[in-house]
This record gives sequence, structure tokens and C-alpha cells, in this order.
Amino acid sequence: MSGADEGEDPPVGTVYLVGSGPGDPELMTVKAKRLLEEADVVLHDKLPGPEILGSIPEAKREDVGKRAGGERTSQEYTNDRLVELAREGKRVVRLKGGDPFVFGRGGEEAEHLASEGIPFEYVPGITSAIAGPGVAGIPVTHRDHTSSVSFVTGHEDPTKEESMVDWEALAATGGTIVVLMGVGKLPAYTDALREAGMAGDTPVALVERATWPDQRVATGTLDTIVDVRDREGIEPPAITVIGGVAGTRERVREFLANELGEYGDET
Ligand code: SAH
Repeated sequence: MSGADEGEDPPVGTVYLVGSGPGDPELMTVKAKRLLEEADVVLHDKLPGPEILGSIPEAKREDVGKRAGGERTSQEYTNDRLVELAREGKRVVRLKGGDPFVFGRGGEEAEHLASEGIPFEYVPGITSAIAGPGVAGIPVTHRDHTSSVSFVTGHEDPTKEESMVDWEALAATGGTIVVLMGVGKLPAYTDALREAGMAGDTPVALVERATWPDQRVATGTLDTIVDVRDREGIEPPAITVIGGVAGTRERVREFLANELGEYGDET
């Protein structure tokens, strides 16, 4: 082996776009766990949750989520940082809550890496969109209730002309609607769904910090869920699940071992 001459650029490192799953460290993939151990540096935000983040040595961690002042690190900064670290020859893990390609901006990062000629690998994770309802006893599909499920962002204002989520069309599917980033705009989209003809007594559940040690679940209907959110003080991160399947929780809850101690209290 000739060894690298001084001043020669190191070989470009690989960036791993890794899904952490919803937060319980046991719900990470075996591959994610190995990559975290082998990584030189881990770029993350808060979404992987306290247990997983707490298991990564401080020295390897770079927080690219919300800064102390509440300001978000720009996507541009994160993109550039990934490229920079890879060009230093580092083995970089970009750790994202749930699955990297579900509302995680993983797609943008993949495109940026590709455009800069940086090799990257996608490592799927269990998305909170399925696991969040599931750990609350709510299957996202169920033969008796629905044969379709939609994952949507609640971040947009439904009254905005340019809203990309067509709530009227969603209501018409009759399928389960799983809303991510949907705590703040809950009043707006529950109204939009009712205006579109969805029944006010349609079951709705909010699953806050799913699989984290302090998970909470709150339930109601399209008519009542905003009051329930306010009363319980439900905050992000939380999943909203809307549809007949949300009623399953009441029928299985007594025997739902996920909640008999493993995760947090019920509300
Ligand atoms: N890539 C993530 C989603 C990122 S968008 C995934 O696949 O899960 C951020 C939103 O995800 C949050 O606003 C919340 O709606 C949801 N979310 C992520 N983790 C969550 C968790 N543990 N419990 C509840 N909601 C969660």
C-alpha cells in the first residue's frame, strides 16, 4: 500500500440517510443501529427522541434541528454540511425520525447529494404515520372500516388557495387519514373535512410522542377533537388519525400491552 500522500484529498465518504423509527430504540433497524455505531458524525434533529439521541456519544452528534433561539437550521446549511463532511472522507449518518422519505426532506437531501456526486444510501425506518396509530391500538387499515389510507401534512393552511392537500377529495375517499405535523392546524382541517361532508362523529385520535417514554393518546371525534387537544395540551410531535379505524382503540385498549407500562400513560 502506498498510503495517502500528505495533502491528497481523502476518498469521499458515504452519507447514510437513516430512519430512526418513531423513538423506541428497539424499533430501530439492526442496520440503523450498526451505522450509528460506525458513524464518524451523526446529523440529527429532535425527532428521533430522547432515548435514541441519548445513546449517541455527544462528540459524534451535530444538531441541525431547531436552535436554542427557536430558529430552524436552514435546509441549505444541512445540505452543505453533509457534502462537506463526506468530502472530508467522513462516514456520515443523517438520522431522521421515522422514515427518511416520509415528510422528512430526505428526498431533497438525496437529490442534493446526487447533484454533488456524493454516494449515499437510504436506510428505511418505521414511520410514525403507521406506528403512531398502531401503538395506540389503531390499525391504519381494517377490513371492516377502510381499504385505503392517506398520509398528509397538516402544516398547510387549508383555506389557502395554493394548499396542496385536497381535503375535500380526501373526505370523499372514505379512507383513513393520517396527518403529520397536524397539531397546530387541527381546527382548520377538521373544519375542512366536515365541510366536505365527513360526519362529525367520525372517530379521531391524537398520538403524541408515540413510543417515547412519555407517549400520550387522546381521543375524540371530528366535532370534539380540538377541545380534547386544548384540554390535554397535546403538542408536537403528534399524529392525527381520522376515520372508523380510530374507534378500534376502544375495543382493544384493555388488552393493549403497549400501554400496560411499556409506553407512557393514557390521557
Ligand atoms: N419522517 C417522519 C415524519 C417527519 S414529519 C416519520 O416517518 O415518522 C414530522 C412529524 O412526524 C411530526 O410533526 C409528527 O406528526 C410526526 N412524528 C414523528 N415522530 C413522531 C412520534 N414519535 N410520535 C408522534 N408523531 C411523530
